[in-house]
Amino acid sequence: MTVRTLHNLHTIDIAPDEVGSTVRKGRKWSGVKRGEDIELCVCTKDPETHEVVGYGTVEHVRLTYPRGILAWEIANEHAAEARTYDGLLEGLERAYGEFSEYEEFVVMHYRRTA
Ligand SMILES: [Zn+2]
Repeated sequence: MTVRTLHNLHTIDIAPDEVGSTVRKGRKWSGVKRGEDIELCVCTKDPETHEVVGYGTVEHVRLTYPRGILAWEIANEHAAEARTYDGLLEGLERAYGEFSEYEEFVVMHYRRTA
């Protein structure tokens, strides 16, 4: 099975063996299973670049809406700048453009392994 790549338009601010969370628009990540390995990519949009900077193992995944993202999930954000609700929304808008409060998002926790 191919390892899924988690693309990030920011640095990964958790160290190996720490658990972090990420919020993703849509259902693309809703089907990942606990224990599944992922690779962590830091990317730029223009020009488009990708660099794998580490690996992780999925711990927990759930589907929700922007207002349903919980304080403890935000506190665990793998991007330090997104550890407040406002910071998280800014990061999501940078990645996805504008979105409505009724759109689905996935909150995924993973343990960084390398
Ligand atoms: Zn990438």
